[in-house]
Amino acid sequence: MQNFNYHTHTYRCGHADLDMTDEEYVLEYIKMGFKKIAFTDHCPQSIDKRKDVRMEYSEKEEYKKSIKSLKEKYSDKIEIEFGYEVEYLPGEEEFINELKNESEKIILGQHFIYDSNKNLKILGHEKYTDEDLKVYANYIEKALELNIPNIIAHPDFFMLSRDEFGHAETEITKKICESSEKYNVPLELNLRNIYKVKYKNKIAPRKGNFTWDKIAYPCKEFWNIAKDYNIKVVYGMDVHNRGQILLWNELIENAKEIIGEDTINKLNFIEDV
Ligand SMILES: [Zn+2]
Ligand SMILES: [Zn+2]
Repeated sequence: MQNFNYHTHTYRCGHADLDMTDEEYVLEYIKMGFKKIAFTDHCPQSIDKRKDVRMEYSEKEEYKKSIKSLKEKYSDKIEIEFGYEVEYLPGEEEFINELKNESEKIILGQHFIYDSNKNLKILGHEKYTDEDLKVYANYIEKALELNIPNIIAHPDFFMLSRDEFGHAETEITKKICESSEKYNVPLELNLRNIYKVKYKNKIAPRKGNFTWDKIAYPCKEFWNIAKDYNIKVVYGMDVHNRGQILLWNELIENAKEIIGEDTINKLNFIEDV
């Protein structure tokens, strides 16, 4: 069983549990037997004007200081890395490199692209055209070419802006997998949406009959294609609150239900990144 998780947020982004301290996350991880974690909170990015999505640039230093001091304090119990979840945008390479240079882990959590007027087109907010999907896959490829991320977070996130998995979705999946293979950067099988849908951000599952029909990611069809590539895979909890850490084992079981044990068994889950 994977005993690391490189995808952890903090209250600074504004949509993780506002009452959880960084240290409380570390303590939960230790209790659950984790050996290595990374804090990868949503990086500051001034072009993104949404409220409660990412930390401010002015919070960066305090965030770094907090995580580095926990790294020292708990070094005999757990290995802690410092980093960010970043998004690639053409023209922002210099800033992303600044983040990269101060980090031990960078995950690429691409949630948007530029539209033709250079406005952000955000996944989950509006539908993506086939053309948008291609741009999305190109951004991921570009980030890899620039050697930015250590992990590609939720590579099937694009399904939030698509209705069903057809030809265009198959093509973008292949493109993302080819990039992952070419640059030898693992894909993350992200467990957060399972938690949101099944547990509604609590520790007990929702009541009543329950199916996975409406879950956008992890996407069964995506991973069924991914399994045939020579790529590495890691689970990522995308922690925004305590419950996700406590439900780690259950969430992995749920992922198996959604994707199918056959596919899961063929994926190359690795020991470390
Ligand atoms: Zn988040
Ligand atoms: Zn995240």
